[in-house]
Amino acid sequence: MEGVLVSGSIVGQAIGECGRCLDEVVEDVDIQIQELFVYPERAQAAEDDGDEEEDVRELEDDMINLEPVLRDSVVTALPFQPLCSPDCPGLCSICGVHLADEVEHSHDVVDPRWSALQSIIDETKES
Ligand SMILES: [Zn+2]
Ligand SMILES: [Zn+2]
Repeated sequence: MEGVLVSGSIVGQAIGECGRCLDEVVEDVDIQIQELFVYPERAQAAEDDGDEEEDVRELEDDMINLEPVLRDSVVTALPFQPLCSPDCPGLCSICGVHLADEVEHSHDVVDPRWSALQSIIDETKES
């Protein structure tokens, strides 16, 4: 099959957001690509031969459309769910605070049945 073999590398940065805390995550991208673009008439001939080549990319009016190639290679190279760090604690489920910034963060969760008692304790502390 004749065509144009495109090879090269994609180097750059992909910006996404942490799946846990929504922080910006910057992934370095450095991908080698090699893709054959066949002349449309050749691709058609190959199909007629029953030679089913999957994902054959064709030249479009002698032009190479690199966009789908770039998109496919970048998307497959990126993690499915990016994280800002592998042990990202995420966000507090109660107030939404960014837990990585507040290591000691916690809530005194007072059972409503004890809240009356809690106010007595507070009064005692104050006096
Ligand atoms: Zn995170
Ligand atoms: Zn919180």
